Amino acid sequence: MDSVLKGKRAIVTGSTSGIGLGIAECLAGAGCDITLNGFGEQEAIEAVQRRLADKYGVRVLYTAADMSKPPDCLAMVERVRVELGQVDILVNNAGIQYVAPLEEFPAERWDAIIAVNLSAAFHLTAAVLHGMRSQGYGRIVNIASVHGLVASKNKSAYVVAKHGLIGLTKVTALETANQGITCNAICPGWVQTPLVEAQITARMVREPIDRRQAELAMLSESQPSGEFVRPDQIGALVVFLCSDSARSITGASLPVDGGWTAR
Ligand code: NAD
Repeated sequence: MDSVLKGKRAIVTGSTSGIGLGIAECLAGAGCDITLNGFGEQEAIEAVQRRLADKYGVRVLYTAADMSKPPDCLAMVERVRVELGQVDILVNNAGIQYVAPLEEFPAERWDAIIAVNLSAAFHLTAAVLHGMRSQGYGRIVNIASVHGLVASKNKSAYVVAKHGLIGLTKVTALETANQGITCNAICPGWVQTPLVEAQITARMVREPIDRRQAELAMLSESQPSGEFVRPDQIGALVVFLCSDSARSITGASLPVDGGWTAR
């Protein structure tokens, strides 16, 4: 991969797994120093850190900062500034899901989803903007969802958080236009990650059907391509959005959904 972003410093929240890990790998491949964030087993995370650093010759920091806690968000940005330097690229990717009808949706799950999927992006964006403005370059990519554009039943908090994230994307784009900074949202359809795994398993139990049938049922209901999106495909789009070629793309919400939102 070309080192089109050589020397840039990127934070990818929620990058110990799934889409975030795919994005971190693509940004490292493009030459970025990476800050990994998220939960998981220490040994596995250290192995990812070493692999990315060795394979791509970049610096890789890890922080377990909890994105549901605003002081953790701010402390993470400060630590990155001290240890790696000014933040050039922020990818707000950390996200959680909970599925239940409105009347049964636990209030604490609502609060947690809004905190991680939406408020963390606000706190981090506010914390990195000054540095981005002073250097005349910055890229903020918010990993929203098709659920930022359309709704599904039983996902009230998630749908609301993702619609809000698209709103935050537009406001950020307007407040930074003409300063070398862009802010865009990516809206994936089904991507096979641990977050979706829980929904596949729930369906297998509910119907009951086998794993492949559950996957095909989910895809055929909503994703016309009939296949899952891969994390590296999202990562490649993030790299493009961070490049100079994408400097005029800002405030956009880009579906990567196999046609989900075309119908
Ligand atoms: P995942 O469960 O594989 O990964 C989530 C990551 O977020 C993990 O690294 C986890 O440790 C981290 N995380 C969770 N809570 C955190 C917290 N409080 N603080 C810090 N890190 C935290 O999920 P994924 O499918 O890779 O999802 C990544 C993003 O993509 C989410 O925002 C999700 O809403 C979005 N998305 C996923 C899909 C999909 O089909 N998988 C589709 C559309 C959008």
